[in-house]
Amino acid sequence: MAIWNPWRGCHRISDGCRYCFIHEGDKKRKQDTRIIEKTLQFGAPIQQTKQGYKMKSNQQVFVCFSSDFLIEEADVWRQDCWKMIKERSDLNFFFLTKRIQRFEKVIPPDWGDGYNNVSIGVSVENQQMADERLTYFQTLPIKHKTIACQPLLGPISLSDYLTDIQLVVAGGEYHKNARLLNYDWILSLRKECMSHQVAFEFRQCGTHFIKEGKEYQLTYQQLFSQAKKAGINWYP
Ligand code: SF4
Repeated sequence: MAIWNPWRGCHRISDGCRYCFIHEGDKKRKQDTRIIEKTLQFGAPIQQTKQGYKMKSNQQVFVCFSSDFLIEEADVWRQDCWKMIKERSDLNFFFLTKRIQRFEKVIPPDWGDGYNNVSIGVSVENQQMADERLTYFQTLPIKHKTIACQPLLGPISLSDYLTDIQLVVAGGEYHKNARLLNYDWILSLRKECMSHQVAFEFRQCGTHFIKEGKEYQLTYQQLFSQAKKAGINWYP
């Protein structure tokens, strides 16, 4: 697994961004997240040593975990990234976006039915964002599609949008003021995924978590350990 952050910085676009981990991290470092800038890692996938590419073949590359790959300010740089992605057909690139509506404006001219080595995840935090973003997402030619309901801010139904989806992940919010996550919402989403034969993963609880009517306050480590303990990931 590798991480490739060709640029950094982002601005909030919807309610799920309120406690964005990039903004929270930058606040501690006193860095202005709203400035979108290229990083020194920009050309990482095609950097070479005498032995060949530095980024080893046959691995998953997580793209833009310090920004949103489809953010407007990066339009001038993105075509170079697509070229690198195409050149490295031996790697599988994955990015997550809240800006899927920009997709058709920013794909490379030879995208066709989608690059085989690109997986795209759309992030939706509530029913409104699911309806807005996934209605469009389901029309797009993308070879590998996932949906991320994280942070999940309310009950949600994805049953209209699960065709051709390979994985749905869900989880709560981490912050001292985090909004509640009710375990019933997770179970209901899992049930929908199972009935559509779509893989489901419960990635993390929320700092403020409700299970069977009782509210819990969890530490950062417990977010993951308790989700794992629930043992509800499901694969067709
Ligand atoms: S779009 Fe993603 S990276 Fe950008 S502010 Fe929202 S949560 Fe953070």
